[in-house]
Amino acid sequence: GDVLRGVEETTTQIGHAVTGGMFQDSLRLGVTGLSQAGKTVFITSLVANLLDRGRMGGLQAVSDGRIEAAYLQPQPDDTLPRFEYERHLAALTGPNPHWPDSTRHVSQLRLSFRVRSGGVLGGLRGARVQHLDIIDYPGEWLLDLTLLDKSFAEWSRDLLAAMERRDYAAGYLARLADTDPDAPHDEARAQDLAASFTDYLGAARNAGLPDISPGRFLLPGDLAGSPVLTFAPMTGSMARGSLGREMARRYDAYKAQVVRPFFRDHFARIDRQIVLADVLGAVHAGPDAVAELGRTMTELLSAFRPGRNAWLTRLVGGKRVERLLFAATKADHLHHSQHAKLTGLMAALLRQARDRADFAGARTEAMAIAAVRATVEEQRTRGGDTLDCVRGTQIDSGKQAAFFAGDLPEDPMALIGPARDGAAKWLDADFGVMQFAPVGLTRRPGDGLAHIRLDRAAQFLIGDIL
Ligand code: GDP
Repeated sequence: GDVLRGVEETTTQIGHAVTGGMFQDSLRLGVTGLSQAGKTVFITSLVANLLDRGRMGGLQAVSDGRIEAAYLQPQPDDTLPRFEYERHLAALTGPNPHWPDSTRHVSQLRLSFRVRSGGVLGGLRGARVQHLDIIDYPGEWLLDLTLLDKSFAEWSRDLLAAMERRDYAAGYLARLADTDPDAPHDEARAQDLAASFTDYLGAARNAGLPDISPGRFLLPGDLAGSPVLTFAPMTGSMARGSLGREMARRYDAYKAQVVRPFFRDHFARIDRQIVLADVLGAVHAGPDAVAELGRTMTELLSAFRPGRNAWLTRLVGGKRVERLLFAATKADHLHHSQHAKLTGLMAALLRQARDRADFAGARTEAMAIAAVRATVEEQRTRGGDTLDCVRGTQIDSGKQAAFFAGDLPEDPMALIGPARDGAAKWLDADFGVMQFAPVGLTRRPGDGLAHIRLDRAAQFLIGDIL
C-alpha cells in the first residue's frame, strides 16, 4: 500500500512513472464555461461514452481497437470534491430521466485507460496505463483574473462608472447613495449591500455581460455567507474602522484567499481545456446578445493567453495549456444541415478572441457538439416548404413535438460583425420553447449515450495521448 501510494504521488507530480513494469501517464483536462453552458452533461456523457466506447468511432484509439480497458479510479487530489458521475448518470438514464444538477464548484474525476501503443512495434510493447483527470470548474471563476490587477479603489471606481449606465444597477446604486462608507463598519449594512450587489451581478449575467466578477458571488461553492463574499464596491476615505475600509480588506482577502489559490491549485496545472458555450441561446436572444457573449468569451479565453496577467504568468511559468477546444453545446437543437453554420460562428468567435493576442503555441479548434442527443431529425412540410426539424420530448408536457428552430446566417459576421443588425432575428420563436427532456437515453453497456461529435471533441482533446 505505502509503496503504491508513493508511486501515485510521483505520478501526479511529474505525470510519468513506472509501476510494476507498466508505464503510467496522467493528463489533466479542464472543463469550463459559464453556468448552464453544459459542463455537467458534457463530463457525464464523455465519461459514460469513454467507458463504453460503442459510439466513439471518431476517437482514433477506439477505431484502432487499442483501448483494452477503461475504468474509474480514486482521484489524485484528496481534498477536492469528486465529480458526482454516478448520480448525474442516474439522473439522465434512470426511470425518471432528467437533466443533472449543474456545476456549482470545482470537482474532479479520474478515468484510467489501459492502452496498447499504435504502430508496428506497439503490439510487442504491451499495454500502458493512461490516467485522465477531468477538472470541472465554473467559467465565472476565470473572469476573476481581471481583479488581480486592481486595487479595491480602482475596481470600485471602474465598476461604479459602468453601473451608472445600466438601469438594473439602480437598486444597488440607491442603497449605496444611502450609505456612508466612512461611518463605522456595520455588519448588517455590509450584508445588505453585498446581497443587493449580488442581485446586480445576476442581472448582468442574464444580460450576457462579461464583467460579472467577483465570480464567487454568483457561484459561492462552500463560501456562501462568509465575510470574504460580503463586500461591495464603494469609494470613500477608507479611514480605520470604517465600513469602506472593511470592504477593501475583504476584497483583498477575496483575491488572496479565493482567487489566487484557485488559479494556483487548479488552473495552473491544466494540460488541455474545453470551453463550452450556449451560443444558440444567445443567437435566439439576438445579435447584440451574441456580440456580448463574444466579449465574455474573449475575456474568459484570455485566461489561457500567456502574458495577460503578470502574477499568472509568473505562476504558470513555461507551462501552457497545450490544446484548447471551444465548443458550442446543445447542437441537437438544430438539424445537422445547420451544424456547419454553428461551427462557423464558433470559429469566428474564437478568431476574435485570438486576434487580440494568440494562445502561444496552443492548438485551438472550434466545434458544434451535443454531449447528449435528446432529439431525432425529421422533415416536415409547412406551407409547401420542406423544413429540417428536430423532434424530442418536451420537458413540461412530456409530449413529443417537432420544431423548426430557424435558420442561422451563412456568414457569422451577420451576427458578430460591426455591421450586424441588432434587431434581426435568426432563430424562430419556436426555439424559445424547445426544452427537451433527456428521455430514451438508456445506457446499454458497451453502447454509450447518444451524442453529436463528442468523439471528435475527445479526439482533439486527448486523441494523441491514447
Ligand atoms: P453547467 O451549468 O455548465 O454544469 O450546465 P449543465 O451541464 O447542467 O447543462 C445545463 C442545461 O443545458 C441542462 O440542464 C440541459 O437542459 C441543457 N443541456 C446541456 N447539454 C445538453 C445537450 O447536449 N443537449 C441538450 N439538448 N441539452 C443540453
